[in-house]
Amino acid sequence: MATVNPPIYRASTVVFECAEDMLDANRGNYKGAVYGTDRLPGQRALEEAICELENGALCRLFQSGISAISHTLMAFLESGDHILVCDNVYGPTARFCHRILPRYNIDVDFVLPTVGSDIERYIKPNTRLIFLESPGSNTFEIQDIPAITGIAKSKDIVTVLDDTWATPLFLKPLDLGVDLSIQSVTKYIAGHSDLLMGAVTVNQARAEEFERYYQWMEIYANADDCYTALRGIKTLLVRLNQHQASGLKVAHWLESQREVERVIYPALSSHPQHHLWKRDFKGASGLFAFLFKPEYAEQEIIHFVNRLKLFDIGYSWGGYKSLITVGQFSRSHSSDYAGKTILRLNIGLEDAEDLIVDLARAMGQMQA
Ligand SMILES: *Cc1c(COP(=O)(O)O)cnc(C)c1O
Repeated sequence: MATVNPPIYRASTVVFECAEDMLDANRGNYKGAVYGTDRLPGQRALEEAICELENGALCRLFQSGISAISHTLMAFLESGDHILVCDNVYGPTARFCHRILPRYNIDVDFVLPTVGSDIERYIKPNTRLIFLESPGSNTFEIQDIPAITGIAKSKDIVTVLDDTWATPLFLKPLDLGVDLSIQSVTKYIAGHSDLLMGAVTVNQARAEEFERYYQWMEIYANADDCYTALRGIKTLLVRLNQHQASGLKVAHWLESQREVERVIYPALSSHPQHHLWKRDFKGASGLFAFLFKPEYAEQEIIHFVNRLKLFDIGYSWGGYKSLITVGQFSRSHSSDYAGKTILRLNIGLEDAEDLIVDLARAMGQMQA
């Protein structure tokens, strides 16, 4: 029997046809899966799909985006190494670098979120890896990726980019010289806020080292989640185009409101690195941020958020449901936003006009 979609295998034990096959497996010479941790067919199908979109040599899946990130760092680093991390990375990524890596004698320096060829100034003789996220979480600065990878290549430094915002449909980091591209599959690829998963796609140069680490650590992804994410990937382009169209509509509307100080969205010409976005990206997804003018007190902003009906208050993004987060996110270098409350919108698949009506109603009751 054949079906359009692949079957789901739930398994610890994989059975061999004969004893000779098991003996081959014992010696590491067996081609197929040998155990439940050995990447069952659904996982392999999803890895292949993501690998193709990323133009990579190898893709491996993890239990979450942050697990993909921490394991990628562990795969390439050892005691005595130094790494550079752009300062606008996802919070838990920064926390892992800050709290866990120093325990293993790995030295971490954070660099400006808008870093480009000036990264050269921070490179030390023991710099082993550069970690980028473009645009960055919450503040959406964009790095000059080719300028950085050009320098990194000349010094044999591994480059990693968290590509969750753009997905491989709107940015292909490996084509710009990055060694490893990371997706939080949780977000747009899965697309329905119902699972957690991460993916790392690697170029030829770094594939073997990464593949070995993954196998030795016996990491794997859950079969049901692989099936669901594979379903998500089939509608990714359709959804992204809609997120982009609605995102632009809402962002333009916000930019024209007198209460709003600033909208931070790479697709707007007002974004400081709009030129880099235009040069390197094929599109913008539906996640961006805005700030109210300073005359609006924190309490007014909190009331605004609570009045919204179509935007649920919650972390994560990339799903069909519109969401909002509120908070102060500036770290040491991101002084542009120090002490300021940033509102981040995940523009979902609802009608953009309805979303604008909801925002307008909640904003109309604000007092300066
Ligand atoms: C959410 C997110 C992650 C982590 O993904 P999880 O699957 O939630 O662990 C990593 N990077 C970015 C940019 C994210 O937004």
